[in-house]
Amino acid sequence: MTKRILLTGASKGIGLETAKLLAQAGHKLSLAARNIEPLHALKEQYGDQILLVPTDVTKADQVQALADRTVEVFGGIDVLVNNAGMASFDFLKDGKAEDWERMVDVNIKGVLFTLHAVLPVMEKQEDGHIVNLGSVAAHHVFPRSVVYCATKHAVLALSEGLRLELQNKIRTTTISPGAVATEFAAQTTNPELREEMASYLKDGLDPVQVAKLIQQCIELPPEMNMTEMIVRPVKRG
Ligand code: NDP
Repeated sequence: MTKRILLTGASKGIGLETAKLLAQAGHKLSLAARNIEPLHALKEQYGDQILLVPTDVTKADQVQALADRTVEVFGGIDVLVNNAGMASFDFLKDGKAEDWERMVDVNIKGVLFTLHAVLPVMEKQEDGHIVNLGSVAAHHVFPRSVVYCATKHAVLALSEGLRLELQNKIRTTTISPGAVATEFAAQTTNPELREEMASYLKDGLDPVQVAKLIQQCIELPPEMNMTEMIVRPVKRG
């Protein structure tokens, strides 16, 4: 069944691969990122099936405009994929306040702003599905990654809270991958750790495989919900 899907962080990595797969499967996609340039090829290929909305998820007014535009064009929102996220890895003692602020703003406030904008739409429809990108960092705390881990613990708490408050109406899924081979380390401001994390992630899961899992969760029959999926590269245990 064709769904109307709002996907954040669609310009790169897991988000871009998810957008490609979902478009191929015939879903209607509202794709958001600050830089929508990499998404023009998809728009050209799939035409009216794709809506591109440049959005900074840390800005509540932009997120509200994104949800409003999606409803205006597609008539509703069946699935929200909260994928936008960032990390700047460092020890707490060396951490920069601006990096902590960015992680909290994108990973927690970005999710809250999209929920604030999309939940009223789903409540009115009396159905919907929210898919949040968590991480193994939502379950474990890793040195040099503590603030990022704290933000992903928060995402898991939000998912669980949504599930409990909205059960029978809205499905909630958390996808929690271990390392995925994307450019996720590029936002790290400590140059040594940026390089180290980039080479660590190179060995991670293929983002296409994670995108396939997201697609599977979205396409489950309506009476089923995958509440959380934890997936790790085999060589990392
Ligand atoms: P990438 O860095 O490849 O992509 C991140 C995406 O988020 C980009 O599309 C970027 O778009 C978007 N984004 C970042 N900041 C903002 C913002 N302020 N407003 C809107 N969009 C923003 O990361 P991944 O694909 O690897 O990560 C995707 C998700 O998966 C994240 O939530 C991450 O925490 C999670 N994850 C990643 C893992 C990994 O090892 N890679 C492991 C576990 C979870 P733009 O810059 O154009 O705004």
